[in-house]
Amino acid sequence: MKVKNSFFSTMKEDSSSEESISGNLLTRSGMIKKSSAGVYILLPLGFKISQKVEKIIREEMEAIGCQEVLMPALIPEEVFIKSGRRDNFGSDMFSLKDRNDKPMVLGPSHEEMFIMVAAMGIKSYKDFPLNLFQMQTKFRDETRPRYGLVRLKEFIMKDAYSFDRDLDGLSVSYDNMYKAYTNIFNRIGLDFTVVKADTGVMGGFLSEEFHAVTDIGEDTLVICDDCHYSTNLDVAECACKLNLSTEIHKAKKLEFTPNSKTIEEVATFFNRKPENFVKTLIYKCDGNFYAFLVRGDKELNEIKVKHLLDVKICELASITDVEKITNASVGFAGPIGLKIPIIADLEIQNMANFIVGANKTDYHFVNVNLSDFKVQQFADIRTVVSTDVCPKCGYKFTFKKGIEVGNIFKYGSKYSDSMGLYFVDEDGKQKPFSMGAYGIGIERCIASFIEQHHDDKGIIWKRSLAPYEVCIVTANEANETQSTLGENLYNSLMSKGVDVLYDNRNERIGVKLNDMDLIGIPVRILVGKRAGENIVEVKYRKSPTVIEYNLNNGLEELIKIIYSSDVAML
Ligand SMILES: [Zn+2]
Repeated sequence: MKVKNSFFSTMKEDSSSEESISGNLLTRSGMIKKSSAGVYILLPLGFKISQKVEKIIREEMEAIGCQEVLMPALIPEEVFIKSGRRDNFGSDMFSLKDRNDKPMVLGPSHEEMFIMVAAMGIKSYKDFPLNLFQMQTKFRDETRPRYGLVRLKEFIMKDAYSFDRDLDGLSVSYDNMYKAYTNIFNRIGLDFTVVKADTGVMGGFLSEEFHAVTDIGEDTLVICDDCHYSTNLDVAECACKLNLSTEIHKAKKLEFTPNSKTIEEVATFFNRKPENFVKTLIYKCDGNFYAFLVRGDKELNEIKVKHLLDVKICELASITDVEKITNASVGFAGPIGLKIPIIADLEIQNMANFIVGANKTDYHFVNVNLSDFKVQQFADIRTVVSTDVCPKCGYKFTFKKGIEVGNIFKYGSKYSDSMGLYFVDEDGKQKPFSMGAYGIGIERCIASFIEQHHDDKGIIWKRSLAPYEVCIVTANEANETQSTLGENLYNSLMSKGVDVLYDNRNERIGVKLNDMDLIGIPVRILVGKRAGENIVEVKYRKSPTVIEYNLNNGLEELIKIIYSSDVAML
């Protein structure tokens, strides 16, 4: 492409509306343009990059026998009501009505539609395995769209679904997909890690996430460098052993604690540390109230609670409900005398003479012990912290930040059962099939790559995603020797299949070079003062070294230099 007379729009200054490095660089380099919160235009350069990501994914999907389809984004709402997922998505789902008042939604994921198609293709056990995928726009009404292309309301996703006869078949499909994902993220050039994750709104019994490790990651990854236990913080297990306190139990005592509601306030009041407290959190889970106890310096993990109780909704009780249950203002809840079930974190078992709210405004109990109230169940219900150790081997944890670029799920027969779709097995009996689902966020791959590959001048693409493999820049376009050589070199490289961006603008050389650094083309060929001798300057974006190249040595040698840009140790 020649820059002159093409869409090409760069900004010198940082974008005021982008809080992430990738969002800023993509905007400044004219690759994307924000349309509204969480919705972006992919401009020509940005669209080209997304096409490159899609190409890599397509090749890897097809290599494992996955066939491409294209589902509608506009789906009757009843499809999600039937599968039981309408409520799960809640207000994250865009809802609308057609002109006949028929409720429709914009698809946030497509399990139901793929099952519909799979049901057409699967009649008997002979029809397995079946693997389908699509590249399609998804819609999710995120509460907090942010970080440029990381958290969007509208985004392109590759979603794939596997259908197998049984769980063994599913394991094979899942493993194939795992390997394909590894190939994809390696080819894209991401530094990534795979962690176990919560199955969440999608359901199922196993989920793993592929995370690009970056500083702006929205997820915290908990990794053991010794045994390679790796999970999302959401589901990381606590390695809490029963280790009863040897302290002599004292008698509990009611203390007047005026204006001290938070742990910090009460800790200051008693001159004790937060770990001497037990927090009592009143929650409403699928309509029932529970009190959860965690140590004062730790946090309750709602995802663990949801799994423990097998509930869909787990939310803090309202102020009115808390006051009704505890007979006190918010901030003074405690386990003694509570009439609702009490579930305590495992760590509480090892505590003695702790402090709790007294269910009486402005009062706390000190020297409380487990014999003072009844716990229905002890369970792992808190979020791990960086001082926790690996539950498998006891080694220390490393915490990293990650952007989730892909996820893979084992659903098993969940959807087959809930949608009442069965196949006829070898023994003539009707059986449910096993399903897996596999997603990759296209824009997130782009944003993550930039978060990992940039410098103060701009983006540093690898050939895998670069919008162009090489750029030719004329130092002075008005100089006929230079413009002729530039034009000839552009035509020759294009004819050899090299994807070239030719900056033939009548701009100052500094402006042109800065722009090329900003958009991050891996190789730059400068046609300058030695154009008359057929000599050009070749420079890799990631290195300051300049190589003089005499074009009389032929194009093949130059192409070799261009294509070695990803591996060259300069
Ligand atoms: Zn470990």
